[in-house]
Amino acid sequence: MFSERYAIAWEQASDLGHRRLQDLEELRPHVASDFIPVLWSEGFGRSGELDQSILARSASVKAGLFGGRVFVIAPLYVTSICQEQCLYCNFRGGNKGVGVERRRLTDDELKQEALYLIEQKGLRVLELVYSTDPRMRMDAMCRHVELVRGLLENHGGGLVGISAEAFDEADYRCLIDAGLCWSVLWQETYDRSRYAVLHPGKTKKANFEYRLDAYERMLEAGVEHVGLGVLSGLSDWRHDWATLLLHEEYLQKQYGRGTTILGLPRLKPAPGALFQDSPFIPNRQEFLVSVALHNIFAPSTVAFVSTREDWDLCVELARGGGCLFTLNCSTTPGGYSLHHGGCQFAAHSYDAPIYSAKLRDAGLEPVFSWQSHDLSPQHRPELFVNECVHSAPG
Ligand code: SF4
Repeated sequence: MFSERYAIAWEQASDLGHRRLQDLEELRPHVASDFIPVLWSEGFGRSGELDQSILARSASVKAGLFGGRVFVIAPLYVTSICQEQCLYCNFRGGNKGVGVERRRLTDDELKQEALYLIEQKGLRVLELVYSTDPRMRMDAMCRHVELVRGLLENHGGGLVGISAEAFDEADYRCLIDAGLCWSVLWQETYDRSRYAVLHPGKTKKANFEYRLDAYERMLEAGVEHVGLGVLSGLSDWRHDWATLLLHEEYLQKQYGRGTTILGLPRLKPAPGALFQDSPFIPNRQEFLVSVALHNIFAPSTVAFVSTREDWDLCVELARGGGCLFTLNCSTTPGGYSLHHGGCQFAAHSYDAPIYSAKLRDAGLEPVFSWQSHDLSPQHRPELFVNECVHSAPG
């Protein structure tokens, strides 16, 4: 389990930061030690020649694998009642009323929200999002997956994913049996001491090791697509991203395909959060070029472009395609057709009918009815190898 290697990986991440920068041409996909020195190199994130080379190479690699296609999804929040105390989140249990309306959707309400996204906005891939609600049990989540999957089947098919707390392997199996396609879970930060400060108490989420190992439980259970990422800004972002690369490399070696979705949350103000003003947030250029570097590190992994970011940055992050792209977005349960207020964090909502045209104007092709295998070009090794070899920097 990665938790047993964590201490070495954390040290290794900073040691590798001092290594000499290799030529970009020599960086080998999925070899973290090749990429980590780039994060600390002098020109990185400075909008100079190095950044331009990374951005061009990333766009070329992505275009070769995905041809500009971006995979459209929308979040569907089910509950905002939470027993955790994450200091950066509006839904934390200790927030008794600032900018939050606590809601837990009934099955009928969930159905209404899902149908709104499916029928009014054309969405065919939905992400069920759960806070850590003490009354939200696994049987209810499985029922929700089944319900939404059934609604999608009635409209020509579609996929359901989940963003929720870390579960045991048996729970992931139940969700798969109910029709789950993917599961995302952000590690938040790999800095153990910062993690402890930001997740106080003796709650489930405060168990750093249990969360670190959740990705292996997902893969063991057979979740088709597993998403990993850090909330950039909680701690030194370079160290977090470097340890993330080592974690991904480890999972790739252990499980062949490893994680296939990269979470891109960057810390943004949340109305009732205690931790707002962080000195650790990567600036726009640093963030953009970090994602591009990751695209070279793991070309077939799809970045989950978040509506925490403005439209122009979302489009930049999506260059070449091969990412999950959030269009309609509400971060509160019932925030679409039920008009419930509040939010988990500040986010944009890019209305699908309007913004899919804007994506096309930007040279990207939004795909609404995508399939699980669309995210897996590595399952065609001949394509993967060829595209990597032929994607020289522009
Ligand atoms: S980040 Fe998730 S677990 Fe933490 S307080 Fe917010 S909703 Fe709850």
